[in-house]
Amino acid sequence: MPHSNPRPGPQSIQIIGACPHDCPDTCSMLTTVENGLAVKVQGNPNHPHTDGALCAKVSRYTERTYHPERTLQPMKRVGTKGSGQFEPVSWDEALGDIANRLKAIAAQDPQAIQPYSYAGTMGLVQGEGMAGRFFNKLGASMLERTICASAGGAGLVHTLGAKVGMRVEFFAEAKLIIIWGSNSITSNLHFWRYANQAKRGGAKLICIDPRKSETADKCHAHIALLPGTDGALALSIMQQLVVNDRLDHDYLARYTLGWAQLRERALQWPPERAAAVCGIEAAQIEALARDYGACAASASQSTGAQGPAAIRMNYGLQRVHGGGNAVRLIAMLPALIGAWRHRAGGVLLSSSGAFAVQRAKLERPDLLAGRTPRTINMTTIGNDLLRPASPEFGPKVAALIVYNSNPVAIAPDSAKVVAGFAREDLFTVVLEHFQTDTADYADYILPATTQLEHWDVHSSYGHTDALLNRPAIAPLGQAKPNTQIFRELAARMGFDEPCFQDTDEALCRLAYGDAVDFNALLEKGFVTLPMPEAPFAQGNFPTPSGQCEFFSQRLADRGLDGLPDHVPNHEAAHSSKAYPLAMISPPARNFLNSTFVNVTSLRNSEGEPLLEMHPVNAAARQIQDGSTVRVFNARGEHRCRVSLNHRARVGVVHGLGVWWRKFGLDGTNVNQLTSQALTDLGNGPTFYDCLVEVQAA
Ligand code: SF4
Repeated sequence: MPHSNPRPGPQSIQIIGACPHDCPDTCSMLTTVENGLAVKVQGNPNHPHTDGALCAKVSRYTERTYHPERTLQPMKRVGTKGSGQFEPVSWDEALGDIANRLKAIAAQDPQAIQPYSYAGTMGLVQGEGMAGRFFNKLGASMLERTICASAGGAGLVHTLGAKVGMRVEFFAEAKLIIIWGSNSITSNLHFWRYANQAKRGGAKLICIDPRKSETADKCHAHIALLPGTDGALALSIMQQLVVNDRLDHDYLARYTLGWAQLRERALQWPPERAAAVCGIEAAQIEALARDYGACAASASQSTGAQGPAAIRMNYGLQRVHGGGNAVRLIAMLPALIGAWRHRAGGVLLSSSGAFAVQRAKLERPDLLAGRTPRTINMTTIGNDLLRPASPEFGPKVAALIVYNSNPVAIAPDSAKVVAGFAREDLFTVVLEHFQTDTADYADYILPATTQLEHWDVHSSYGHTDALLNRPAIAPLGQAKPNTQIFRELAARMGFDEPCFQDTDEALCRLAYGDAVDFNALLEKGFVTLPMPEAPFAQGNFPTPSGQCEFFSQRLADRGLDGLPDHVPNHEAAHSSKAYPLAMISPPARNFLNSTFVNVTSLRNSEGEPLLEMHPVNAAARQIQDGSTVRVFNARGEHRCRVSLNHRARVGVVHGLGVWWRKFGLDGTNVNQLTSQALTDLGNGPTFYDCLVEVQAA
């Protein structure tokens, strides 16, 4: 075991890698290796966005990699499903048995085999590189990967044309920054560094978030709106820009589509109406619109009267019924004031659309050979694992292969998810580092390598640099890269296409083809994409019309409203007497989705699962600070400790996540309460659209 924080010795070497986690910052990492052991992981000082600093979570990467509970050999279930009882077996026995079981199911209908994966690694190779080939050749069911960002992604695509926006480094030059639905200090630390630079240069920072987060603490103003009301707020800002004529008429005329219709809709949202929906004061909306409108540019005044205005959205705000429409509306705001004219103006939710990843070459959909398997939405896995065979659904799910994900902890409506995973007739294989909540339900756990032990390449959704990850150490124990596990399974299934022989390094080279200089990646660890500084200064949006599409013909063609609107929550605040509190479940500071929950030092920093609540709501229920509470609704009940603090507004509680269920007081986490209802666009989950009641336990 290496010391947790030793000084590099004279024999030490440093290997350049990339942080694999689901975070917009995509840091470049340096791993110090001594005598074959990784002794330290730190930020790469040569990578401008990383600037030598990793977050507290990934700084502990050696603790995670060498964790004494790491799964380092194949394990076969010996107890009942969920009991967590396993015995070690050889790779030969595990892969042989898995291949035989899959062959038997595939002989009936390969669609009964379901892959389930997400962003446990964001790597393009250890993600779907070889796995995609395996499942395409098999003809397994497809997975609609919606669990995080699909509503917002659809919102961007139907407005700006792709998941694109302003370059993150130019936030440092903005004069007004609106941080909308993001606790950047914990979830987007390296953006926060740019925002702080702007603040030191005199910029005003405004945070919009139901929770008074650590980021809100550091902003000049905070607007604590009710969850799922962001679209109403954006419409009312537009109304104020119109009535006060704080518009860039030239930009609107040249580079937008549907302004007349949007203008009419916005005029229906005076601040008093939006304030009632959002649960805030009309004066707050007027002040926000005044600040934003003061930055309006005109054709002759390309930087805006008071300097460029930049909006940083994050994905929290789109985890509600109207998440897609809300993102559409917010993404339109820069066009109203001509903010795009300046490189420090515009909006950023995701930059992932800037990367020309050769997904078809990696995942090889041609191996489907004309077959069109059904698609299952990962958000509704709870329902779908319990569905019988039917003409509409197809075969009952008979086998589940889980990699890079922990659905028993992170999928909504846990009672159903657990019931599905507990089916004794479901054959489940989990590729993992640890015995997670999901691995407890596996028939086989296959030990996977961590980022320190394999090759990969990465794009980013927060900046525009491609990154390479080199293995720093040899795989621990009997662990294998995901790619190798799927390669060996493919061989046992009799898949003999040459593509199953591609090495990981070959897959890394394939990911970007000629779009990125691979030799430069090998040398430096990162390559900055060639990008215009102000990509939409003169329109050129990657939409069908080339304009910023206020009106989307593509949505209208699907029978949807081509214009965005405020779409109320499925479970709107004040709509239920039985469950009067709105619950959101933002990430706990020391966890990243469900990763790191088992890293002792990070879990100790968090303490235990916590519900944040406003003292007024607590007093009405005779709830004391630090006591144990029952949080419940019709879907289930979760017990945890309550914290009465200034972070919660009246009427909203925060169940910080995502804890592993096994660390919860009664073996549950907040997803016992969340629903499988979907968003307006993108078929995404609605984790923050959830009503509950709370009682002293
Ligand atoms: S989780 Fe984010 S901030 Fe932390 S090291 Fe990874 S990319 Fe950087």
